[in-house]
Amino acid sequence: SRAQAMEVTESPDVEYADIGGIDEQIREVREAVEDPLENPEQFETVGVEPPSGVLLHGPPGTGKTMLAKAVANESDATFIKMAGSELVRKFIGEGSRLVRDLFELAAEREPAVIFIDEIDAVASKRTDSKTSGDAEVQRTMMQLLSEMDGFDERGEIRIIAATNRFDMLDEAILRPGRFDRLIEVPEPDAEGRERILEIHTQEMNVADDVDVSEVATDLEGYSGADIASVATEAGMFAIRDGRTEVVQSDFERAREKLKDVEGADDQVIH
Ligand code: ATP
Repeated sequence: SRAQAMEVTESPDVEYADIGGIDEQIREVREAVEDPLENPEQFETVGVEPPSGVLLHGPPGTGKTMLAKAVANESDATFIKMAGSELVRKFIGEGSRLVRDLFELAAEREPAVIFIDEIDAVASKRTDSKTSGDAEVQRTMMQLLSEMDGFDERGEIRIIAATNRFDMLDEAILRPGRFDRLIEVPEPDAEGRERILEIHTQEMNVADDVDVSEVATDLEGYSGADIASVATEAGMFAIRDGRTEVVQSDFERAREKLKDVEGADDQVIH
């Protein structure tokens, strides 16, 4: 049913300040999503159409979902999330039905931000119509495109999609009037990692001599999601040792522990 396939939140509890290391991407998303929702008359006066759809692309765990939630929250819009994989695991006709429901629900709850995660599941160029399953996926994608073609860019519904597999996308979805604003969300650099670590240790009782910058330097190759796990794990080590403060070596142990997970991750063929 609708309720199972979609996640609807009136005001997601994510703010721009919770997102580290991607300030430029936050600026771009605000311009494409928040500004048209809050100042539609400005676009009208200047005579430009806001982007139809925003596509966030980049590696897993870099903050794409957070960014979509934050912009919905900060624009006072309802956040409606649907996973691309939900759209393909259905009976014949059900994918396009869900797409129609998605836009209908957004119209009922506007202002709204529609977020389609894993858009590649329905919009991959590998899909060809030779097999019936693929034909069904194709129909779902056509339905999505027709919904997008049909809606008013100056209206109260904004659409954001995300993917970890940009190279696999069918170009049809990137044409003007569709997902025509591409925003890359990269893995964080050293400064970004430090900021993310600060955010995730904000509420923790961290010893004064912990060098966050040094910890961040050592976390090269770790995504935002990985860094969040390192912070939590470090806290767990302190608890296990019966300490009330998290010390530098807790972070090192946490990093070591999660490094193995990292290594395993790299083996996965995407
Ligand atoms: P995926 O592609 O796997 O869906 P994503 O890019 O959407 O990943 P999020 O779901 O936004 O990533 O991030 C997962 C979690 O990782 C967040 O809830 C947060 O705790 C942490 N995180 C990721 N990126 C950042 C960031 N830039 N700043 C702060 N925390 C982050």
